[in-house]
Amino acid sequence: MPLPCPVCRTPLHVDLQWLMQNPICQCPTCQSVMNFEVPKELQNEVTKAINNIKKIKDKYRGIATFGENKQKLI
Ligand SMILES: [Zn+2]
Repeated sequence: MPLPCPVCRTPLHVDLQWLMQNPICQCPTCQSVMNFEVPKELQNEVTKAINNIKKIKDKYRGIATFGENKQKLI
């Protein structure tokens, strides 16, 4: 999910996983410094959810396609 800079709306091309590892970052366009610190327990919940999604993708690999594999259908 693309996240725009809250000040100038420039797309930042980062996702939640990247922000959890780099909570303080600077917009390359307007130089605004942003702090996206997430509480540790919420980080654990997100990590669990991402791992569940990976397990589902592995389980159904070969019989289902997911967003990143749409090109294979054409
Ligand atoms: Zn900006």
